[in-house]
Amino acid sequence: MLWVVLPSLLMSGQVLGAPPAGTLAELSVARLDPEADVVDVTAGLLDNEFAPVAGQVIHEFTPQPRWWKITANRTLDEPLRAQLVLQSPGHNTVEAWLPGSTAPITRALLGPDADPGFSSRALVFPLPAGLPAGQPIYLRVESPISTPMSVSIESLAAVHHADLNHVAGRAFLLGGLGLMGLLALGLWIGIGERGYAYLGLSLLAQVAFFATNSGDIRMVPALAELLGTDWRWPRLFVVANAAFNVIFLTRYLDMRARQPALWTLLLACLGVFSLLALGTWITAAHWVPVVGNLVLVLGTVAVVIAAVFACLGRQRSGYFVLASWVPMASLLMVRVGETSGLWAGPSWLMHALPAALLFAGMALMVGLSDTLQQLRRDRDRASRMASVDVLTGAMSRTAIQNRLKACVEESHRRRIPLSVVFFDIDRFKRINDEYGHGIGDSCLKIIALRTRNRLRTYDSLGRWGGDELLVILPDTHLEEAMGVAENLRSAVNCRPLSIDGHLFDASLSLGVAELVDGETAAQLLDRVDAALYASKAGGRDRVTGRLAVTATTAPA
Ligand code: GH3
Ligand code: MG
Repeated sequence: MLWVVLPSLLMSGQVLGAPPAGTLAELSVARLDPEADVVDVTAGLLDNEFAPVAGQVIHEFTPQPRWWKITANRTLDEPLRAQLVLQSPGHNTVEAWLPGSTAPITRALLGPDADPGFSSRALVFPLPAGLPAGQPIYLRVESPISTPMSVSIESLAAVHHADLNHVAGRAFLLGGLGLMGLLALGLWIGIGERGYAYLGLSLLAQVAFFATNSGDIRMVPALAELLGTDWRWPRLFVVANAAFNVIFLTRYLDMRARQPALWTLLLACLGVFSLLALGTWITAAHWVPVVGNLVLVLGTVAVVIAAVFACLGRQRSGYFVLASWVPMASLLMVRVGETSGLWAGPSWLMHALPAALLFAGMALMVGLSDTLQQLRRDRDRASRMASVDVLTGAMSRTAIQNRLKACVEESHRRRIPLSVVFFDIDRFKRINDEYGHGIGDSCLKIIALRTRNRLRTYDSLGRWGGDELLVILPDTHLEEAMGVAENLRSAVNCRPLSIDGHLFDASLSLGVAELVDGETAAQLLDRVDAALYASKAGGRDRVTGRLAVTATTAPA
């Protein structure tokens, strides 16, 4: 987290509570509540009615234009090239009556009153005649959405320096957020995981919100013309961002199934927040954004609690959400407190919040990849388990069946021989009945091991079921397969099986068959099964081969 927040702190060159670097004088800020005539205000007739506000901040909560008065505590001479700076003005429009000029200057970040000579960090008003101590500057501030502006007087050089840093910082943060959003969408297209799409869309909605809310959209004039001057766009983007975030988190934390109560609360917060945010389009009531912000905070807390529960439930996604949301949520609270007029937020917040979002986006991208990786590992394990018989270590029935089908097809296509051996342990039930299933299992294991050791690497051994095993011998004619089967038989009956200090005699009955032209795997299995049956019927512990000619060998 620090690595993204620190540069933004350094870039803004400020720390919490301290006056901005390059500030030339301390200022008194006062506000006039009632509507008043321009002439009366600028003539100083109402000076005594202005009420001082705490701090150097101009903050309007209603969209009606209001009068503000700024005075400096010491005289600033003209050679200082002092500038009045109103930071983070958002969609505010400010008319200023400056000392020495008769007509007001109007400034806004966007539209015809924008001054392209400065960055979107602040509205800047030159004070060519300087500013005598106590001489008021009158401002008429119109704030369609409540946006606090910190007020300072800086030298022109300091303004340019801060502007350059601001442009670099915003380009880095918004560019980073935008790129990450596009990358997430790319991953969605490439991998098909919808979580990436929701994450990408929420990141892009965030970029759109910051760009339209803070005037950064000025960097793209065509877009600025389209979306810039209407303060309703950021509201729309913030709702879109909240919606995509909720969909993403619901899926990612599996909230619907695991935390239905928090999920319902989150959905309710989203619904109310969206209604209130869009409600600001039709009503200027002061309580609407305040309640909207409270709901936003409640939703954020719900997400953090859901993440904590997920962590307690050992859900890995919980850790990623917690890591990404705690810094972001903390900064969001500071910002909400600031826009609600509870406190003056630090000026680095405008960089720190997107920086925290950048970090959050990155953490969630890594988290999603982690989930996918986990799914892949689980799938690999499941498919491994499905293809191997746990007791004998031979292939499972499904796996050996599939292998046989593939071998039969290949054998027909390439016109190469293929043989199979099917064998069954003789009187196995007796071992189970007399010594128990544990000993029976050990017998099965040893027999599977002994027979597997007699096969070539490209032969396959699979457990067909119970005490029956199937061997596939690619590129093998019947005579050779008969030899292999004999080998298997002798591997088992050559010496007794030793289990827990006891010796058990065991033998196999085996059937052998070679694939003939046009034969299917099922037909081949029928023939080899018949061969095995013949071995059983013939007295057990023997090999029977089946092709055009029936060959039988008796035990030696
Ligand atoms: P034969 O094949 O010679 O006709 O006689 P059998 O006694 O072996 O009869 P059959 O093959 O029909 O019986 C298979 C027996 O294998 C039945 C069951 O008790 C035993 N069995 C099947 N699967 C397992 C297993 O996983 N573990 C153990 N211990 N026994 C099993
Ligand atoms: Mg048997």
